[in-house]
Amino acid sequence: MRIVTLGCAKNDVDSEEIAGVLKGAGYMVDGQQHADVTVINTCGFLESAKHESIEAIKRAVAEKGSGKVVVAGCLAQRLGEELVRLAPGADAYVGVGQMGRFNEIVGGLKSTQQPLLDVKPPHHRWAEVPSRARTGRPWSAYLKVSEGCDHRCTFCTIPSFRGSHQSKPLERVIEEAKFLASTGAKELNLIAQDVTQYGYDLYKEFTLPKLLKSLNECDGVEWIRLLYFYPNRLTDEVIEAMATLDKVLPYVDIPLQHVHPDTLRRMKRPWDGERYLKLFEKLRQAMPEAAIRTTFIVGFPGETEQEFQALLDFVREARLDRVGAFTFSREAGTPAHDMAAQVPFLTKRERYDRLMRMQAGISLAKNKAWEGRSLTVLVDECKDGWISGRSFRDAPEIDGWVYASGEATPGAFVEVCVTDGREHDLYGEIVPA
Ligand code: SF4
Repeated sequence: MRIVTLGCAKNDVDSEEIAGVLKGAGYMVDGQQHADVTVINTCGFLESAKHESIEAIKRAVAEKGSGKVVVAGCLAQRLGEELVRLAPGADAYVGVGQMGRFNEIVGGLKSTQQPLLDVKPPHHRWAEVPSRARTGRPWSAYLKVSEGCDHRCTFCTIPSFRGSHQSKPLERVIEEAKFLASTGAKELNLIAQDVTQYGYDLYKEFTLPKLLKSLNECDGVEWIRLLYFYPNRLTDEVIEAMATLDKVLPYVDIPLQHVHPDTLRRMKRPWDGERYLKLFEKLRQAMPEAAIRTTFIVGFPGETEQEFQALLDFVREARLDRVGAFTFSREAGTPAHDMAAQVPFLTKRERYDRLMRMQAGISLAKNKAWEGRSLTVLVDECKDGWISGRSFRDAPEIDGWVYASGEATPGAFVEVCVTDGREHDLYGEIVPA
C-alpha cells in the first residue's frame, strides 16, 4: 500500500494519520509503486494544485491493474461528483476529516464495484493519537491543533472544503505532543488555518495561551513554533505567553494578504497597515528578536496602483524578516472570482516582481545583522564537515537554512556563530560546546 501526498503540511499530517490507522488494521504501508491500494491525498487550494492532483489520480488509475485507488482530501471535498467526472476510475473519493475511518473505507472496497463517494460536510474525526505513522525527520513534527476556518476571506476556497473551525480538544493535543516527543520530536510545529482561534468552539474562550502553557511542560519538546496567526486575535495574552514561555519560539508567521484598507475590505479582512505596524511594534517590544514573516496577495481585483504603492510603502517600513507573495488566483466559487476590475496578468506579475525586489534588500539586511552573533540551530543534515539546520527564525520547508562548518549529529542542537548573512540563508561556524 502507498500514500501519495500533495499540498501542504496539513495534508502530510492527515497522511500520517491515515497510514497509522491502516497499519493498526494490519495493512502494510510500504510505498511500493504497484501497490494493492494507492491513496492519493489531494490538494484543492488553488487551480494549479487542482491540476496536479487530477494528474496524480489519472496516473494512479492508469497504473492500478488489479489494485485499488482511493482519492482523499481537499480536492475530493471541494469538487465531489465533479472530480469523479474529471478523474474517473478510482475506487473511492473521500473528503477531509475521515482519517480515523480509513480502515473501514479500505476494508469496504473489497465488497463493491461502484466507486464510493463520501464527501459529506466535513466533521473531523481525529484519529487515535498513537496511530499516527510518522514520516520525515523524527526531531521535527507538525501537530495539527484545529481544522477549518471561521473567516470568510473573499479569495479563499479553504472554508468551503475544510469547513468551519474545529479545535482538537486540549488534552488530545497534549497527548499527541507527548506521543510525538516519544518518537523523538524536539520541535513541534503547531498548525492551524488560524492558530489564534484555537479552543473557542470547544471552550467559548480563546485557549491558545493555556495550550501553550501546557505544551511548555511537555518533556522532550524543546521548541514550539506556531503557524499561522490571524492579526486581530494576536492578543496581549498570546504575546505574553510567547514572550515568557521558554520553549515557545519568538517566530510569528502572520499572513496579512494586503495593507490598504480598501483592498482589505474587499478581501473581508481586518484592520489596515497602520494597525499592523503597531502590532509589530508591540511584538518587538515583548520579543526583541522576534522573526516576523508575512504573505501578501498582489493583483487582487480592483487593486489600483495607489493601493499597491501602499503595500510597497508598508513593506519598506515594516522591515519584516521574510515576506512571501502570490499573484491573485481567480478561484471558482469564491466572491473574488466574480468581482469587477480583475487585474491583468502582466500587471500582477510586474507588481509581484516589484514587491519581491523590495523585500530582497530588507531580508538581506536582516540576515546581515546576524553576522558576528550566534544562535541555536537544530541540525537537519550533516555532510563533509558541514551541517545544515534551522534556527528559531526558520520554519521547516518555509524559510531559509543555516549552514555551518563543523561536526554534529542530525537532530542535535548546536550553537553557530554567523559569519555571512545572505538574502535567504545564513553561513557560519559551529561554536565548540
Ligand atoms: S483566514 Fe486563511 S484559511 Fe481562513 S478564509 Fe482567510 S485566507 Fe482562508
